[in-house]
Amino acid sequence: MIRDDGRKAAAKVIPILEVAQRLGIGGMRRAGVERVGACPVCGGRDRFSINPARGVWNCRICDRGGDGLALAEHVLACNFQAALDFLVGKADVAPDPAEVARRKAAAKAAERQRRDYEARARARAIRDAREIWHAAKPGEGTAAEEYLAARGVRFPAWPPTLRFSASHPYMKHWPGRGVVEWFRGPCMIAGVQDAAGRVTAVHQTWVDARRPGSKLAITAPDGSLVDDKGKKWPAKLVRGSKKGGAVRLTPLGTSGVMIMGEGIETTASAIAAGIKPAAAFWAGVDLGNMAGRQVKLEGVRHSGQPDLGDTDAWLPPDGITQLVFIQDGDSDPKPTRAKLLSGIRRAAACRPGLRGWIVKAETGRDLNDMRMEQIENDRD
Ligand SMILES: [Zn+2]
Repeated sequence: MIRDDGRKAAAKVIPILEVAQRLGIGGMRRAGVERVGACPVCGGRDRFSINPARGVWNCRICDRGGDGLALAEHVLACNFQAALDFLVGKADVAPDPAEVARRKAAAKAAERQRRDYEARARARAIRDAREIWHAAKPGEGTAAEEYLAARGVRFPAWPPTLRFSASHPYMKHWPGRGVVEWFRGPCMIAGVQDAAGRVTAVHQTWVDARRPGSKLAITAPDGSLVDDKGKKWPAKLVRGSKKGGAVRLTPLGTSGVMIMGEGIETTASAIAAGIKPAAAFWAGVDLGNMAGRQVKLEGVRHSGQPDLGDTDAWLPPDGITQLVFIQDGDSDPKPTRAKLLSGIRRAAACRPGLRGWIVKAETGRDLNDMRMEQIENDRD
């Protein structure tokens, strides 16, 4: 067993820019809060970034990142122990208790600083989200309504949680420049509300007003339509803190039944299809949010078991006795199922008497695809 002599803690408090300097990484330039430059391993220019405030780095080409120790491992192509030796020297034969205590205190202070930084960043993101929310106007009669209508979705009553902004800035990180405005365009803005009903995030979908039913094709500042991995740039972005929140497409009602899909379109399709009209229909924003933190099991990425210590995770409101999660058929089935199971099991554990189900769309499709087909069939 390796004795905890405080060396790991000591390595973790070395500012990451100092680690970079000791590893001979130079030529980084400022980009917002980050430093950007060439990756010392793959040489990829502007794909390697360091965030000194958070003490982390990332290379988008090597697809690696982490803290200062991980940076030493990456650059020196060595294991954790060797990286530790590099940063704080070999283990002392008999560590000085005063030195161990000093290292641990320094690690604690650094951890506190990191938490403060994250709390400030979260507060700023929520503030931004609320500004966006208040500036947007009701979605009824706008391109947001056209977008959903063209996808087969009409609401019995338009949800006040869906708003619209005709010229909404698309703000996203761009290497070397930080978070910048890529363009402005028509955008459906959904309010994500926490358990107390406060808007803590906005879910933004840029729509193509010339092609109703289509999301906007996003062009990056360099003119590209896809990222390094060949994936289209996302037409949907969340700003704020979505954790534990949901987009409430219908009021809670008194039926005790809640139907939740991941996306707004998926969940709205269930409303439009006339399934359980008395139920509450809320969109969970993303699967991770519906799952909450899962118990970590050796060798299993998604255990499907909720970590009940995650007190910020989403839970159905009081009064919900039946919870239905919609599983889309177009995402990787195993992790998707595990995440949904985690969310259902969490709800059952925290709301005694609650029963839960997972309803699956056909393989390869989501509920909105099926809704579109239903409309085609209705026309015949
Ligand atoms: Zn790299």
